[in-house]
Amino acid sequence: MNDTAPEPADKNHRCGRVALLGRPNVGKSTLLNGLIGYRLSIVSPKPQTTRHRILGIATRPDGQILYVDTPGLHIGGRRALNRRINRAALHALDEVDLVVQIIEARRWTDEDEAVWKAIAASGRPCLLAINKVDAVKNKDALLPFIAEITAGRTYAGVFLVSARRRDGLDAIERAILERLPVAPAVHAEDEITDRSERFLAAEQVREQLMRQLGQELPYATTVEIEQFVERDDGMSEIGAVIWVERTGQKAIVIGAGGERLKEIGTAARLAIERLFGRRVFLRLWVRVRENWSDDEAALVRFGYDD
Ligand code: GDP
Ligand code: MG
Repeated sequence: MNDTAPEPADKNHRCGRVALLGRPNVGKSTLLNGLIGYRLSIVSPKPQTTRHRILGIATRPDGQILYVDTPGLHIGGRRALNRRINRAALHALDEVDLVVQIIEARRWTDEDEAVWKAIAASGRPCLLAINKVDAVKNKDALLPFIAEITAGRTYAGVFLVSARRRDGLDAIERAILERLPVAPAVHAEDEITDRSERFLAAEQVREQLMRQLGQELPYATTVEIEQFVERDDGMSEIGAVIWVERTGQKAIVIGAGGERLKEIGTAARLAIERLFGRRVFLRLWVRVRENWSDDEAALVRFGYDD
């Protein structure tokens, strides 16, 4: 064979983009992580944990799937941050070959309906993933539920999954691959995202804020990486600022004797080390920027510009 001839296109290889859409807290990020096999996208029991679109790449022998995890589409948020989050989710629809709508088993809410309407209006083919089936004791009860929600809605396939237990993920992956265009891979096989390590490190700190702070406070916080240095010994030195909206919140994040901040830092460091596969030295500060979540300039500075 002539070395300089272009490689023949592989008719069996598929590649394309898939948006994971759904209302907050249905398990989109857990599903993304299960599908790609890394804890890339942060997860917590609180709604609106994900604030950005995140690309997660799964490379298989017969195809490459570019998953776009999105913030949950959310009705009624009035702050500038909420508007930007909804926009980020809807933008994902413009640029994908296929959509997976995720819902919770046995629940169909007005927000699920709003998500479906946005997908239907986009004209993109859509698979339905009914998640958290592990939490349903009587599986027979799912049959009438499936019949009810799929009536009159043109899903290209319906899948029962438990993202947390990674049940049913192979079947949905196969269905996704079948529906992607024949195309060569666009990312190297060891790439799992297009996001920078700075971004991923900030997200791991934010995950701990979502998990370790009370009900309201996480929504008043964001994380900015100020320092990111690769040392000669292979360790990374990361300095991150936790921004809050009021002085009183700063004291709560730090906690008595600095205990709370220490726990946040330790858990975040371990998560960053697992994701990066190397040792990390993480330093955290807490600073106040009044009302940052409703301040357009602050939102751009903190990376909410997608
Ligand atoms: P997102 O907001 O849609 O991205 O949802 P997350 O992935 O952050 O998950 C929200 C919550 O649902 C977390 O507490 C997850 O652990 C939980 N969760 C996700 N998938 C499952 C599942 O398959 N079964 C159960 N029981 N819980 C799940
Ligand atoms: Mg999420």
